[in-house]
Amino acid sequence: MYSKVIVAVDLSEETNKVLARAIELVGSQTDKLVLMHVVEPVPAVWGMEAYTVDPINLQQQILDNAVNRLGEIGSAHGIDNANVHAVLGSPAPEIRNLAKSQSADAIVIGSHGNSGWKLMLGSTANKLLHGATCDVLTVHVGD
Ligand code: AMP
Repeated sequence: MYSKVIVAVDLSEETNKVLARAIELVGSQTDKLVLMHVVEPVPAVWGMEAYTVDPINLQQQILDNAVNRLGEIGSAHGIDNANVHAVLGSPAPEIRNLAKSQSADAIVIGSHGNSGWKLMLGSTANKLLHGATCDVLTVHVGD
């Protein structure tokens, strides 16, 4: 039985399926789950200021929304807020970093998500496997 499991979700419609599989892994011991989402940096687009869009504010808003959304999902599944993390960066390395810093023995992710079903194992799941220092369970999502 795993003692700490990172569940990485992209907040797409597949999130519940990925989380459900992680919950199956730990049974009723949801305190073993660490729910996480990575917010990718908003690129500064030339001419953005002409539309009065401040990329720093936009970034913070996206991060705040992710924190709120993750918190809602976590509490709906009995996951304490202390075990809910929204971080800024690139998904695969940030998921690996959190797994290391939490001494997790497993990571659960979807086979594909926002970046498209056609990619299958071509994106986050694939990148994560390279350099992962614990088990990685890829949950098949979609058709
Ligand atoms: P994708 O690489 O977009 O096809 O997503 C595959 C899976 O990687 C998703 O189902 C999630 O489990 C995970 N994932 C993708 N993007 C993120 C993200 N920004 N934060 C956390 N997990 C993610």
